[in-house]
Order: sequence, then structure tokens, then C-alpha cells
Amino acid sequence: MKKIALTALLLACASPLALALDAVAARQDIDRFLDGKYPGLDRLYKDLHQHPELGFQEYRTAKVLADAMRKLGFTVTEKVGKTGIVAIYRNGAGPTVMVRSELDALPMQEKTGLPYASTQKTKDQDGRETFVAHSCGHDLHMASWVGTAATLVSLKDKWKGTLMFVAQPAEEELSGARSMVDDALFSKFGKPDYAFALHTAPMEYGYLTYKAGPQTSNGDSFALVFKGKGGHGSMPERTIDPIVIGARFVTDVQSLVSREVPPNRFGVVSVGAFNAGTVGNIIPDEAVLLGTVRTYDPGVRTQLLNGIRRIALASAQAANAPAPDISIGTSQADAVLNDAALTDRTAKVFKSAFGDKAIQAQEPSPASEDFSVFVEHGIPSLYFMIGVFSSTQLKDWAARGQPVPGNHSPFFAPVPEPSIRTGVTAMSLAVMNVMQP
Ligand SMILES: [Zn+2]
Ligand SMILES: [Zn+2]
Repeated sequence: MKKIALTALLLACASPLALALDAVAARQDIDRFLDGKYPGLDRLYKDLHQHPELGFQEYRTAKVLADAMRKLGFTVTEKVGKTGIVAIYRNGAGPTVMVRSELDALPMQEKTGLPYASTQKTKDQDGRETFVAHSCGHDLHMASWVGTAATLVSLKDKWKGTLMFVAQPAEEELSGARSMVDDALFSKFGKPDYAFALHTAPMEYGYLTYKAGPQTSNGDSFALVFKGKGGHGSMPERTIDPIVIGARFVTDVQSLVSREVPPNRFGVVSVGAFNAGTVGNIIPDEAVLLGTVRTYDPGVRTQLLNGIRRIALASAQAANAPAPDISIGTSQADAVLNDAALTDRTAKVFKSAFGDKAIQAQEPSPASEDFSVFVEHGIPSLYFMIGVFSSTQLKDWAARGQPVPGNHSPFFAPVPEPSIRTGVTAMSLAVMNVMQP
């Protein structure tokens, strides 16, 4: 026992680099493996792209991924948190490392004109028919996820520990991670020591971005029902007009960020839906407003949510109307916070494998992500972005003064190779780096 303790002490005193991954050699191993494996990943990507499914309806997608992971030797459990899957691969004593992908697509029409563009239609959760498309790049994340699993299995003599590959449903609704955690994800499969996720971003392929601290925002939603008194449009004095109340709220709520939040703090309040009335000459009796709130700082978050409530009540009171129905935070995710030590440790490997130039500074995104729901119980995690467009495409769009068609655009068309290769390489390096024997 003593001898072991002494060896451990000596190792701990040695340069930490002695235990670090040789990223350049590992990248060469990964590249060699991917040269043979890439065509299969390309086929998988295009198949997933042509068969997108909405949140909690990802039956085919989950099956395709579960089959692929079983073929690699993972033990796969399906239907975790409705349609999520968990794939475990044990390779000796060492840390448990989680790698997350999303399964879901968006209710929108793809307009990329790609030969493998989605033409699929489906029914959303309210039974309405809608087009469906992978316009957030989750198909590319899935191909990278399977590719990373295959790479790690092929290089299993170079790391030790347990891989926990998690594919979650319904990321776009910010509810799939919660549904997996509530389905006893961590008590059934163990709590990982580290967790990683990647996301496509509208920048040049071969480039990566990440940063310690907030990477995405706290995302909260609100729904307000302003109650008035309906009547004839020609006799407003006999009514209480909920459209005027709602309009007052929309205008006044903008002053929350501009007048109450310090200018160097991030906050967004947007009203995305305002529904009231049927025709021009009837004052309706109610107006329904839906909105979203994004923040990084918990104090600003509370301030904005309280402010929305206060301004909604005041808008109604000013019109002598009954108090509105206010519901806040029906779909929420906390900001994804990258662990400083893990970010630093992974950055060293990314820089030596890809070169300093390929790493771009990253501002936190105002978008939200429910990866935070997995890691909020003290799991050190890193969420990073990979680019998906060629420099020529980016220059062309800039020269024509066109915005880059990024995630959620109907024209979002990532270039599969080398974007998937970058995803696989970066994720494999990040994982192997924390699983050095
Ligand atoms: Zn998205
Ligand atoms: Zn996404």
C-alpha cells in the first residue's frame, strides 16, 4: 500500500505534461482512422438530414443511433426520458465521461436546395402539419457523436475509463435533458466525472470556439393573458381594450433592459407572439402575449422576470382592467457554464492538434441550451462550437452584403466534410485527454 502511495506521490510531483495526451500523435491516429471511416459518417449524416423528426418524436433517429452504437460494442438503453438513448462502453478503471448529442429537428421548411435536403412533413405536438428540417445542425452533431464513439473504440488502448454517450430528445424545446434526468439518468447509469457537447456555428470549418464561463444564456419564457371587456369598435368607452394594454406592455417592457439593467450586463426581453381579436370593428376581450427572456447573470435574470410581472400588472391597472394571467418560466434552461480548469486543460490539446490560429475567441451566445440541465449538479463540463462553412462561402456572403445563413435559417447548409471530421477529432481529443491511463 505504501509503495503505491509513494508511486502516486511521485507521479503527482512530476510535470503534469507527463500524463497529458500527446495531441499531435493522437490527431494523426484519428485522421488515419477517419480516412477509412468518413464515407460511412457522411452517409449517416445525409440519412439523418433527410429524415428529421421533432422533439419527443425522434423514434427513427434514436433507432438509427442505437443500432450504430450497438455495432460498436456499446451497451445501449433506449427510451430514456421518452426518446433519449444512453450508450455505455467500459474500458477499465478510470473516469466516466459523458458526450451529449441532440436528436431533434425544427418545425420549418428547408430551402437549401441541397440534393439531400429534407422534404419531410410531420405533425407537431398540437397536431398541426408542419415541415421539419435539421436547420440547427443536430444531424451533424449525431454523425460526429457516432464518429467519436467509433474513433474512441478503435483507439481504446490509448485511454481508460467509461464512455457515457447520451443522445437527448427535444433540445429545441429545452425540455429533453430534463426529461432524461427525471427518468433517473444519473442514478441508473452513474454520474459522469466530465461532460462534453459540441454545436455547429456559422463560421469557417476547421475552426473551434469556446471560452470558460457562460457559453449560452439562461432561457426563460413568459405567457401573459391581458383581460379586457370586449365590445363594438365604434364605442371604445364601453370596453376595456386588451390590445391597448398589450401594446403598452410591449413598449414599456423594453425599458427594463435599457433603463434598469446596467449597460455592461447582458439581457434580452422579446415578445414573439401577440394574438388578439378577429376583425377590425370588434374590440376583443383578451390578448395573449408570448415572450422570451435571455440572461447570463442570475441577478439580472431575477430582475427581468420580476420586472415583467410588475409591468404586466401595471399595464392592466393603468387601463382599469383585471389583473392579467402571468406565467413565467414554462420552458427554461440555465446558462451553460464551461468549467475553467477543464476548458484550460482541453484548450492545450486543441491548440496543439489544430494550431493556435484555428481557435477563435468566443463571446457567449444569447441562445439557450439545456445541456446545462445535465451538468448543473456539479459535473465539470465543456461546450464548444465548430465551424461549418468554407472561407469562399463566407467571403461571397460578405461581398454580397448578405448575412451568413446560420442555425435556424431555412438556408443553413453545413459542408459535411470536413465539418464532421473536425467534430469527431475535437471531441475524441477532448475525451481522450481526460481519460489518460
Ligand atoms: Zn437550435
Ligand atoms: Zn441546436
